[in-house]
Amino acid sequence: MSHKSIKQRKRGITMKNQRETILTGDRPTGKLHLGHYVGSLKNRVALQDVYNTFIIIADFQVLIDHLEDSHKVKTNIKEITLDYLGAGIDPAQTTIFIQSVVPQLAELTVYLSMLVTVSRLRRNPTVKSEAQRIGVDSEQDNITYGFLGYPVSQAADILLFRAHCVPAGEDQRPHIEQTRELANRFNKVFGKVFPLPELLISETPRLPGIFGEGKMSKSLGNAIYLSDSAEEVRRKVMSMYTDPTRKHASDPGHIEGNVVFTYLDAFDSDFERVADLKNKYQVGGIGDIELKNHLFEVLMNFLRPMQKRRNEFEKHPDYIQQVLKDGCARAVEIGEETMKLVRKAVGYNYADLFSAK
Ligand code: ATP
Ligand code: MG
Repeated sequence: MSHKSIKQRKRGITMKNQRETILTGDRPTGKLHLGHYVGSLKNRVALQDVYNTFIIIADFQVLIDHLEDSHKVKTNIKEITLDYLGAGIDPAQTTIFIQSVVPQLAELTVYLSMLVTVSRLRRNPTVKSEAQRIGVDSEQDNITYGFLGYPVSQAADILLFRAHCVPAGEDQRPHIEQTRELANRFNKVFGKVFPLPELLISETPRLPGIFGEGKMSKSLGNAIYLSDSAEEVRRKVMSMYTDPTRKHASDPGHIEGNVVFTYLDAFDSDFERVADLKNKYQVGGIGDIELKNHLFEVLMNFLRPMQKRRNEFEKHPDYIQQVLKDGCARAVEIGEETMKLVRKAVGYNYADLFSAK
């Protein structure tokens, strides 16, 4: 995996004078939150002008653990699209599409599923922890075929677009490794079709939730959403855990594991000010409320311009519809190009079988 900075990446791509491809995405299980932004979305926005960028709204993936919520997905797709546009994704540069609308993804998943063993999938640490979260054991038979196999479907998402780079959070590392293995195996068995994608890890690959435990996640009720109102952000910031060992503002406090400072590190671009606050906190020179008020200001300064843009786009549902329609059409077009190569490599290109001689 590569550790190039965004600047180095941009320079490298420009020098090569040839556009590489990014594929990444989100599950439409709810609106996007700060974790999505720092873990992946920020890099998508930064790189969309130098990479062919595809964003997949992974609706099939919702079914692995939210079967009963399938009817909410359509609304979530619209909300997520607004989040993307608010955050600075430009549909002229980035293709936003819906997974289930691209049939070639399901087709590629079938081919790839023949190239991985069940025991390899059972060992995937992210599958294990996601399964655990809903009380399922990936080593046992109470996990569904679709859940155990979702890294294969996700590999198809990446490989169908022959992506080189996947900006994503730390939880995606095992999936990218799995995708590389599948691409490698396909290329060896049938002939080279796929580049081996690289994970692009951000500076904040795992933003914790507001209570400090676990990662910020839609499913855990510990998220600050990009579209949260100022009151909601304030309420959430005020409920954050700080240093449980500290009783009074004048007691020396701990920075380590203090989620308010984790968020300041991620969102306050004035590093000197953050360093100064840390020093003050450690000697008992600042109270929790004052610190949280500062974080609230920092977060709102970051969120306000995005929310303003988002609100503007929200007034134009026809535009959102068009963005998704165009994105899906383009994804199908590119997907079919890749599937032609795949079918040919496997020997399942049957055009001559059906055409009259
Ligand atoms: P769900 O609970 O429905 O799985 P989620 O909040 O985990 O939702 P995903 O849609 O699974 O979000 O993840 C989308 C992308 O955002 C992935 O690249 C993932 O790595 C990244 N991401 C999600 N949460 C975080 C986080 N807390 N910190 C950094 N990156 C994150
Ligand atoms: Mg997730």
